[in-house]
Amino acid sequence: MLRPVNPTTGEPLEPIPCTPLEEIPDRISAARRAQPAWDDLGYERRRALILAARETLRERVGAISGWVHAEMGKLPAAARGEVEAYLRGIEGDLDTMAKALVPEELPFEGGVTRVHHVPHGVAAIVTPWNFPVGMPLTLLVPALAAGNTVVFKPSEISTRTGLAVADAFRAHLPEGVLQVVAGADAEGAALVSAEVDLIAFIGSREGGKKILEAASRRAARVLLEMGGKDAMVVASDANLDAAAAFATRGSFSNAGQVCCSVERIYVEAHAEGAFLEKLLSETRKVVVGEAPALTEAGKTPPLCIGPLASEQQLHHVERNVQEAVRMGARLLAGGRRRGDRGNHFEPTVLAGVRGDMAIMREETFGPVACVQSVASIEEGIRLANDTRYGLTATLWTGDEARGRQIALRLEAGCIGVNRSFGGAHDMPWAGTKESGYGHTRGVSGMRHFLQPRSVTTR
Ligand code: NAD
Repeated sequence: MLRPVNPTTGEPLEPIPCTPLEEIPDRISAARRAQPAWDDLGYERRRALILAARETLRERVGAISGWVHAEMGKLPAAARGEVEAYLRGIEGDLDTMAKALVPEELPFEGGVTRVHHVPHGVAAIVTPWNFPVGMPLTLLVPALAAGNTVVFKPSEISTRTGLAVADAFRAHLPEGVLQVVAGADAEGAALVSAEVDLIAFIGSREGGKKILEAASRRAARVLLEMGGKDAMVVASDANLDAAAAFATRGSFSNAGQVCCSVERIYVEAHAEGAFLEKLLSETRKVVVGEAPALTEAGKTPPLCIGPLASEQQLHHVERNVQEAVRMGARLLAGGRRRGDRGNHFEPTVLAGVRGDMAIMREETFGPVACVQSVASIEEGIRLANDTRYGLTATLWTGDEARGRQIALRLEAGCIGVNRSFGGAHDMPWAGTKESGYGHTRGVSGMRHFLQPRSVTTR
């Protein structure tokens, strides 16, 4: 039985029965039986059914974002924002999948090879709680559009949200195409060890590596998007207002519970004082809890953050902040739990951190900005790369041309120079090192949900 707790109030939510482990193979068999007909429907009809599901999700946005708020604590406006943003992205993902499905023709002396892209079969989809609608949609849409059938296990923290997303799809998809498993690690482990053809996972580095191990036993295809320890490198001639504004959003949005949060900030020593002043001034504007009802006309509403999703996560953040302070870091803001109900943590700024502190090595996944001063951009890049993670990174410099030149030396999948790392819709969302194994988005990301099958004729 799952016993979820509302992270805003600390009150228990209704328990949810786990799928019995012995039923998981039956769900996979049902998905396997449904797969050939789902593939035979063809891309255009699958697309139409997925778009119909999107409309149902739109109609249910109030209820679904209500579950997001209740289960993982995202504030109501942000919860609705997540659902709406990911629903807007579905059509773009479907268009990209259409491109990925086009066969390539490779003529040669003796004839022609046609490279088709066919589904794997049954995909296991396992997702986290931090974007409890967005992450399932990131995997469900391409997996289904490609012609795979799916067995989906949402996070134990956001199961009702996940079930609500699945229900909207199941209202339109043929029987058997989308199966659901409710549960935690044990149910996830049983699912990925069973007879599935593709495992698509978003979650922690530790969870991803366990899945890779399980998949290796059956040589199942795997796509893993894992955690990050993402760095910002700030040169002394950078626009410090822009850098501090990005650092604030990057460190505190979703209470820091974002795979691509800014977790480490390396600032050239000359600029450290000025940067910290601006970062602190931005941090003071962050609201813990709901925004004041009215924002003055023309003013950007403040960043508002909810609680951490679980007490365990709260303790992890508290512990790493306290350890850093004990080891000599300077606590410039926050550093404490806020209130005695729920898992709220104050937006926290630490300076004087070092690479031997857990807060600079492990994923924090909480509202903490960590600033370390460096002698040069060269040192900043070296330290930014001194990690087993490699999801995103940003470089802030007054010399944009040089920034473009050296950006590729940052060992991350998505890099921004003087702006966020996010870019074109079809940019591959790829983690390097232990942040990813395979990737999503872009034609190359869509191809992870497909396999090549080449036919050569005279
Ligand atoms: P988690 O790894 O604890 O759990 C993720 C999912 O995997 C859950 O559904 C869980 O039940 C399941 N699971 C856990 N152990 C398993 C096992 N051995 N076999 C099969 N399934 C298993 O991660 P979380 O705490 O839910 O999510 C937060 C993590 O997700 C953070 O590390 C964050 O950076 C990462 N994340 C990455 C991206 C990305 O795009 N790279 C996006 C969002 C979140």
